[in-house]
Amino acid sequence: MKTLPYTLKQMRKIVEEYPTPFHIYDEAAIRARVRALKAAFAWNEGFKEYYAVKACPNPAILDILRQEGCGMDCSSFTELVLAKAVGCLGQNIMFSSNATPAEDFLYARRLDAVINLDDYTHIDFLRRNGGIPRQICLRYNPGGEFRLGNAIMGNPGEAKYGMTREQILQGVKELRLLGAESFGLHAFLASNTTDNGYYPRLAAQLFELAREVHEQTGASVDFVNLSGGVGIPYRPEEAEPDIRLIGQGVQEEYERILCPAGMKVAIKTELGRYITGPCGSLVTTAIHRKDTYRHYIGLDACAANLMRPAMYGAYHHITVLGKENMPCDHVYDVTGGLCENNDKFAVERELPKIDIGDLICIHDTGAHGFSMGYNYNGKLRSKELLLKPNGTVQLIRRAETPEDYFATLQGLGYDLRV
Ligand SMILES: *Cc1c(COP(=O)(O)O)cnc(C)c1O
Repeated sequence: MKTLPYTLKQMRKIVEEYPTPFHIYDEAAIRARVRALKAAFAWNEGFKEYYAVKACPNPAILDILRQEGCGMDCSSFTELVLAKAVGCLGQNIMFSSNATPAEDFLYARRLDAVINLDDYTHIDFLRRNGGIPRQICLRYNPGGEFRLGNAIMGNPGEAKYGMTREQILQGVKELRLLGAESFGLHAFLASNTTDNGYYPRLAAQLFELAREVHEQTGASVDFVNLSGGVGIPYRPEEAEPDIRLIGQGVQEEYERILCPAGMKVAIKTELGRYITGPCGSLVTTAIHRKDTYRHYIGLDACAANLMRPAMYGAYHHITVLGKENMPCDHVYDVTGGLCENNDKFAVERELPKIDIGDLICIHDTGAHGFSMGYNYNGKLRSKELLLKPNGTVQLIRRAETPEDYFATLQGLGYDLRV
């Protein structure tokens, strides 16, 4: 069963002060998930989670994660600014970018972030734009398909990220000549994977590569970055991954592959979805009901506030607040107001009878929710709220206004005031 950290009565009060739509994040739940992750990897000296900033780039959220001991995983200039704003600098930033502009590398080097190179040619590009640091990470792509047992979990061979094995080996040799002394290896081979075998399987590949790099080049491989990809159960019938078992599985591979070689390696992760995904929800109001060839519920939020259903056909669970125990004896398409027919949060979903004015909560929007928002059709981004452990609510981002939307139009002379 999917639950929410508030009741209808509590949410009615919140909505009096902060009208829908908004994303609301649960601070206590975020802290609990980071703590569980850290406990699962406590066996590894040097373990560190670098939260993937793109999943929920609000400094109030990032600051909670920093307080819990996380670093920040950034991939753009503005994400670096956000990391710096919450006090993450140097080894507390992992810069895992690709197709990286020169100014991004320059800024990442200025902050002394750990650089994770996506490509072999980036060695020379970084040398000319910021310089080669003492410690550096390389992103690996093994090609082909990524399998767990018989199941194909990802398609690295079709992915734009990372380097081949040969490029990694050659790259490490060159980087050593350019002054690098300490190396990390990184790979991201499957997204949103709830299978407990994902991280252990990925770790085994990276540990083998770490051994090979060390044996062939003499380089010191000091960390392995398992990146993101641990998933969450978006559907109520799915199981939550067992982070304790995942940590144990990685430990077994560590002891099998690295210990015999006498290697000591720190594990890093860049989880986004796993940490905050279940800790956010999009709260909206049913503002229209329409009956044609199907039954439609029109909300005051749209795909511009949560793109995943429109973009990937992703399932997000929906709760009609206060009707949790009523029978799901109606079938609705739950839509936003974009002039795009894929702007549907749910298609032919069985739900309780929805009345105009009902509060509709869309689950699991704490990662890749607000942050994937956009302004198509002139739709504005919503506010973001933080539900504190003491039950109070803090506005951590106001809603956009038409003035925000027009703010970048300059020197044209039109009167764009409402
Ligand atoms: C997106 C991304 C992550 C986070 O992925 P999740 O699915 O949110 O865990 C981590 N690292 C890199 C390089 C990414 O691009």
